[in-house]
Amino acid sequence: MTGKILKGIAGFYYVQAADGKLYECRAKGIFRNKNVKPLVGDDVDISVLDETELKGNIDKILPRKNALIRPSVANVDQALVLFSVTQPEPNLNLLDRFLVMMEVQEVPVNICFNKIDLTGDERQMELAAIYEKAGYPVYFTSTCEKQGIREIKDLVQGKTTVLAGPSGVGKSTLTNLLYPKAEMETGTISEKIQRGKHTTRHSELFGIGRDTYMMDTPGFSSMYIEDMECGCLKDYFPEFEAYEENCKFLGCVHIGEKVCGVKDAVSEGKISQNRYDNYRLLYQELKEKRRY
Ligand code: GDP
Ligand code: ZN
Repeated sequence: MTGKILKGIAGFYYVQAADGKLYECRAKGIFRNKNVKPLVGDDVDISVLDETELKGNIDKILPRKNALIRPSVANVDQALVLFSVTQPEPNLNLLDRFLVMMEVQEVPVNICFNKIDLTGDERQMELAAIYEKAGYPVYFTSTCEKQGIREIKDLVQGKTTVLAGPSGVGKSTLTNLLYPKAEMETGTISEKIQRGKHTTRHSELFGIGRDTYMMDTPGFSSMYIEDMECGCLKDYFPEFEAYEENCKFLGCVHIGEKVCGVKDAVSEGKISQNRYDNYRLLYQELKEKRRY
């Protein structure tokens, strides 16, 4: 029978199988030949060992579409990063770090700003301008007043989405709107493993509809950019590329160079100043790390 790994704890994998039930599985045998470890999000073949106790064994990991390192999850279609327009104020440096991390791993990102009931349109337009110019889809919601939720539902429908964002921005409120408790119980995951307790930092996928999965990512605020050559950072700011042909040097990093298409685009307002400033900060950070 096929299934999907929703959670892994200490050598046990919780597999939502094609029969709709959640099996507690081990992965005996699959390590022997290949050095692959099952990941949350993996589609697998399992054999049922105990029908009543719902125990099984993972026999085979089916081919992966992708495998992220942070968070550790396979077969991801997209990320949804949630910030609030205010309370707390969005930390755009943190957002840009997250975007770089996802660009490195080639995961498309959608940005959502929540709590629009607390600010005016002007702030929304400002934020939209920064990120739409960079090519990211931007959504606005108020989970309190249930604005913009339909669009988010459509966005995640039929996909596996990694949800990220700092605490206090409304992630839990949004998730509850996307999958009311009743629907979640069908997965019976809450019967098997205690959730809702913030003691574990394990990644977990939630089935929220047919072929639709969400994953809450812990540890968002402790994000640092992977060890990367500072000269490569520019490749992960997708909006730079269109202007690089106006740079004098091939491999221009758009920092100290005199004739630079990217810097021109920033002064002309075609690239957001805010994004560029964060680029410089991250560049400096990577450069300093290299010295040690
Ligand atoms: P999480 O830490 O990201 O999971 O955030 P929560 O969902 O727990 O929400 C944090 C706080 O923000 C709670 O007090 C919520 O009531 C509040 N909140 C969530 N969404 C909204 C919203 O759209 N508007 C306003 N004004 N407050 C919100
Ligand atoms: Zn340049």
